[in-house]
Order: sequence, then C-alpha cells, then structure tokens
Amino acid sequence: MSIAQERRLVTEIPGPGSLERLDRKKAHVADGVGTTLPVFIVEAGGGVLVDVDGNHLIDLGSGIAVTTVGNAAPSVVRNVQEQVAKFTHTCFMVTPYDGYVDVCAALAELTPGDHAKKSALFNSGAEAVENAVKIARVATGRDAVGVFDHAYHGRTNLTMAMTAKNMPYKNGFGPFAGEVYRAPMSYPLRDGLTGEQAAARAIDVLDKQVGAANLACLVIEPIQGEGGFVVPAPGFLPALAAWAEENGIVFIADEIQTGFCRTGDWFACDHEEVVPDLVTTAKGMAGGLPLAAVTGRAELMDSVHVGGLGGTYGGNPVACAAALGAIEEMRTEVLDARARELGAIMATRLGELAAQHEVIAEVRGRGAMMAIELCAPGTTEPDPVRTAAVSAYCHQNGVVTLTCGTWGNVFRFLPPLAISDTLLEEAFDVVAEAFAATGG
Ligand SMILES: *Cc1c(COP(=O)(O)O)cnc(C)c1O
Repeated sequence: MSIAQERRLVTEIPGPGSLERLDRKKAHVADGVGTTLPVFIVEAGGGVLVDVDGNHLIDLGSGIAVTTVGNAAPSVVRNVQEQVAKFTHTCFMVTPYDGYVDVCAALAELTPGDHAKKSALFNSGAEAVENAVKIARVATGRDAVGVFDHAYHGRTNLTMAMTAKNMPYKNGFGPFAGEVYRAPMSYPLRDGLTGEQAAARAIDVLDKQVGAANLACLVIEPIQGEGGFVVPAPGFLPALAAWAEENGIVFIADEIQTGFCRTGDWFACDHEEVVPDLVTTAKGMAGGLPLAAVTGRAELMDSVHVGGLGGTYGGNPVACAAALGAIEEMRTEVLDARARELGAIMATRLGELAAQHEVIAEVRGRGAMMAIELCAPGTTEPDPVRTAAVSAYCHQNGVVTLTCGTWGNVFRFLPPLAISDTLLEEAFDVVAEAFAATGG
C-alpha cells in the first residue's frame, strides 16, 4: 500500500486548498449536488482518503458502500488499465464482448439460489431497480409495485416513487410514477414485533389496499440503507418471500447496498436463506466504476421481448473489467469473512459506547454495515441534532462518517473491507471522543 495507512491532519478540515476549490464548486456545480464533507480528494487506498492539503482521513463510508474492496484496489486497477487500452466501448447491444458475459456468469454463481439465472447490466442502482420492475410487469402482466416504509431505491421518477423519504429525494420533483404502494417495514426498535407479526401486518396492508392478484412485485432491501440501516426482525423476509411465491408476486431483493460481502455474506438474503426471484446489485460490485445488474430466474428474465432491455452504456467493458477484478479480490481474500471480523470489532466498540451514552437507543447491522440510532434517552424520539454534532466532530478530526435514516438520527459505518484493524479501532476512538465532546 503506497498510501500511509494512518490518520494525519496537517490543516483544519476543510483546509485552505479545499476551501479554495469549494468556491470553484459553488461557481460551477449546481447547488442541488451537495457534499457531506467538503475536502477535495487526490488519492485513496486501503482505509484512507488523502485530500489536496495532505490530510489523511480514515474512511468509514466507502463512497456510500462502493469501495468494498478498497479504493483503487490493485486487482481493479490492473483489469481497468488492461481493458481501457484495448477498447473502451462498443455498446453490447451492437457488438458484444466477453467481459459482460463473464460478469453475468459470476452473478449467476454468486447470487442466492442454485436455479438457472440470467442477468442484464446497467449503469446505476436506480436503473437496475427500474428494470427489475419492468421485467416483473412483463412476466406477470400486472402493474402494482409493493415497497416499504423507509425504503430507498433511487432518484429517477419511478424509483423516487418507490423511495419513502421526501427531503431531499422527492420534494418538488413530482408527479411521481403511479401504481406504487407502501407497506409497513419490520423495525424492531420502533414496533416491537416479531418478524412473523410484522410480515402479517405488511401482508394485510398489501392484500386489503392493493390485492395480491394485482401485485407484479414486492421490492425490499434486506437491510435498509439510506432509510436507517433497519434490520428486519428474523422471519420477516422469509414470510414475505413465501407469501409472494404463493401469490405469483415477483420477490425482488434490492441488494444494491447490502450485496457483495458487505454484510458478512455474499448477499444479505443469504443470512436467512431467502432466495429472491430477482436481485438488483450495484454499489460494491465494481470497485468504484459505475455498473449495476438485475439477476434472476432465467424464465423471468427471458419473459422480456428481444431489444426490451438495455441502454447505451449498460455493462461498459471497462466497468465489467473492474467488476471482474473486484469479484476476484472478494473471492481470493474471502472478504465475506473479513466483513464479519470488522463487524465484530464495530459491534464491540458500539456496544461499549451505547453502555456509556443513553442517547444511543440501538446498535444494529450485520458485518461491515453497522449503525447506531440516536434518540432522546429512554424514548424512541429521534435526535438528529446530536447525530449531526457527533458526525461533525468526526469530520473535523479526520474520520469520514455518514448519517442516514428517515429522521436523520442514524450514524452508519461502512468501512472498506481493506481497512486494517488498527485503523478501524483508531476511527472508533475518534467516534468515542465525539460522543464525549458533544455532551450527554
Ligand atoms: C444507492 C441505492 C440505490 C440507488 O443506486 P444509484 O446507483 O445511486 O442509482 C438503490 N437502492 C439501494 C438499496 C441503494 O442503496
């Protein structure tokens, strides 16, 4: 690793170089494109981001769960460099190439279930979700789409309709696509229900308000991402999957954030041996290059007429080469196991913090996808103010952290799986200091 794997602050955060560039950003980039931590990055690798002022920051965000194999991971860089020098684009729909087919073959092998599977490749997670819905509608001849409270599925028109949270994702951007229906999610901290009870509640809403026979698909994140790292109670996903199967509803797992070793399994559905009909993937798949996929039962995938799926850039050869490098790295380094190790360290540190600070209502997550939810002590009343204060302290002290949740009161941790134990421990020392320094 050429980048020193250490936290090293040489200026204030943001430093003078970043502040100067922020003025240029303000002049040239639309205000609607926000930034969480405005330091401009020049280099990154392992668990460290280096900014223009020479600050080394510890990365607990992975660019929102993308650089799972680490930033500029050697296997990704090698594959991309080789591919980019050979050819950069043909459009797979015009003249095909091996990389696309190789990624689809890997997806068939790695995603849950041992049935015959096929895939189609796209550029972004939202595009994959949209296409999964298209496939489900053609396959079933039905229109309705079932989604859940706190869901996040993207920012295109259909996926905005599927996303729960208004600000900042939807406000003013309507009218939204129709035939999208929302059911209550299993949220153990807030509903106290077992998985089976929460599934019965969701099924009742869908059955009575939509009608099972009208539903083309149910789309669910097996652990919710932007919505607050909500881990449904055990039994919730299997009960929904069984109900979908009984009623001819396509069960779609949106594994865009949870997939590719993040949760300590290759896919979050593996944990309860749930086998979805379709799986959407993106973020962790290609080491930072834009690539997304829909993978699923061959007969479902093939229900769409020839030419009905695609896109100019979908499955770009450079992105496919990157994915093959990232997948090779996950396999040879057994990164699902590494995610479990990192998860154990984080669970210990967060458990200690929760014992000291009453504002932490819950520690949750799986593998290298962990979170704490902050509420007024002894209640479930969200505390977004303290969450923002703790996060700001971490940023000023060289740790890149992210928040999420419907109420903005969830602090989430998504380290690259290439981070060392030492660096991760140091990052959590800073998180602990942040809680102490912000009072309570
Ligand atoms: C990020 C995300 C998306 C959207 O992916 P984009 O690449 O940003 O379009 C969809 N679903 C989930 C679960 C996500 O985390």
